[in-house]
Amino acid sequence: MSDKKVLLEIKDLTKYFPVKNSLLFKGNSYVKAVDRVSFTINRGETLGLVGESGCGKTTTGRTIIKLYEPTAGDIIYDGVDISKYSQKQMLDYRRKMQMIFQDPYASLNSRMTVGDIIGEAIDIHGLAKGKERMNLVQDLLKKVGLNRDHINRYPHEFSGGQRQRIGIARSLAVQPEFIICDEPISALDVSIQAQVVNMLEDLQNDLGLTYLFIAHDLSMVKHISDRIGVMYLGRLVEIAESNELYSHPLHPYTQALLSAIPIPDPDESAAKRRIVLEGEIPSPIDPPPGCRFKGRCKYAKPICNEQDPELKQMGKDHFVACHLY
Ligand code: SF4
Repeated sequence: MSDKKVLLEIKDLTKYFPVKNSLLFKGNSYVKAVDRVSFTINRGETLGLVGESGCGKTTTGRTIIKLYEPTAGDIIYDGVDISKYSQKQMLDYRRKMQMIFQDPYASLNSRMTVGDIIGEAIDIHGLAKGKERMNLVQDLLKKVGLNRDHINRYPHEFSGGQRQRIGIARSLAVQPEFIICDEPISALDVSIQAQVVNMLEDLQNDLGLTYLFIAHDLSMVKHISDRIGVMYLGRLVEIAESNELYSHPLHPYTQALLSAIPIPDPDESAAKRRIVLEGEIPSPIDPPPGCRFKGRCKYAKPICNEQDPELKQMGKDHFVACHLY
């Protein structure tokens, strides 16, 4: 998709979760959380991944870092296919690939001090000990805008924004190259969101990081992303360079998501046409054939019932999966 150096490539990544027998679903049923998703991320780039809750964006992130074992597909990191690596083989990659979680409170152990939360990964990977370890932790706290003397405090003594900064410091402790940011600002006050996004951008510039930035807030994702992928019910339906996606959205679902972004100017906002999606999101358990968006799409035609559209290139770095094109 681009000439730049690719750091991560996922090819047909698939993650199905078996559904235990229930009254409704008998036999071998699966939640098709991620279904044949492919994209690349270049070194130093931020790829935004957006979609409604349940679209598979978080499962995609967790499968890439192998918190979930992929059902099928390839995860090629810096030229090496790690999709079938054991947890032991993944230890090296866990240093290179880190994750920042959505809920900074739930993801931090409330009984550990900040120093031990951040230092844990340093210990696991044997990166530093004693005074050197303490200096490293204090430097990380400073890097994320906290005080060095916060090292002996506990998570409950911090605000939500500060706790997310602790989570970011923890992910940086092992000097990663690639970070999956899983809705890192969704649980934060709007006033704090921009601060955390700006800090992530500064860290990216300073440390040469590569991000997969998962979000449902399209306005913030534009600010930080070079390219954006849109997911719907386990499928990647569109991917393009950020400005291109915002100015020329092609998939009817992307168009609807963009039309829902609030505009601060009341006149502009009144003039804007909001596309209201009708119909229910279908169940991800054994979804019917054809396009998964068909029940909510006003452009649906007979072929949409039969064939699941594949991504098609529509311009430089712009791909869409829709039978309209
Ligand atoms: Fe709509 Fe058909 Fe395109 Fe799906 S493939 S988004 S149903 S037009």
